[in-house]
Amino acid sequence: MIDSFVHKGQRNMLVSELQAKGITSEIVLNAIRQVPRHLFCGDAALDRHAYMDKAFPIESGQTISQPYTVALQTQLMDIKPAEKVLEIGTGSGYQAAILAVLGANVYSIERQKELFIKTTKLLKDLKYSVSTFLGDGFNGLPNYSPFDKIIVTAAAPYIPRTLLEQLKIGGILVAPIVNGEKQILIKLKKLSDTDFEQTNHGECEFVPMLEGINHETSI
Ligand code: SAH
Repeated sequence: MIDSFVHKGQRNMLVSELQAKGITSEIVLNAIRQVPRHLFCGDAALDRHAYMDKAFPIESGQTISQPYTVALQTQLMDIKPAEKVLEIGTGSGYQAAILAVLGANVYSIERQKELFIKTTKLLKDLKYSVSTFLGDGFNGLPNYSPFDKIIVTAAAPYIPRTLLEQLKIGGILVAPIVNGEKQILIKLKKLSDTDFEQTNHGECEFVPMLEGINHETSI
């Protein structure tokens, strides 16, 4: 698994593109500069596309999110070192790696067994400290809650109450929510057990958040 100067140069160009699109957080931009996204894209043939600002198909009909979306979600979460962060939808592991670089304690759930196995190994091989779980994100991780921040990276039909319960007061949840034909990126800040402050952050495109675990695997 090679990370060359060419890849590093491509990442710097990607960062300039993200800045032009409105990403301002220096720590987020630095994390994008550091994480070798091409190693998360699955097929080496796609190497040269890895630093374009677009989403990619990976195994099991899933996608690696668009860098802009990863950057925006991460910026909205305002991650501080050592915070406990729950991610729903490990997928390629790229978003989880970005959070790990920011110093978060990352707990990430994936419902597709095949992806779970492959990505757990990749994150370990690349030495990113992320705890991965095969499970249904609708249930969160009750044994590890509460979390400072929660990020959902699959389009949810609604915000699962369980996840809101597993968020600390003062904590932030960022999620794409299905709204008719569209998906809207929303940020919720938990003010008390019953009060939340919501802001909307534009349209986005994610694969759907589905219930249950898919145990099918070809590995
Ligand atoms: N964060 C990922 C994005 C992956 S796409 C990345 O950086 O690459 C969304 C992922 O969410 C898919 O892998 C999909 O299988 C997973 N997913 C969908 N519904 C889920 C659920 N209920 N629980 C856990 N994972 C889910």
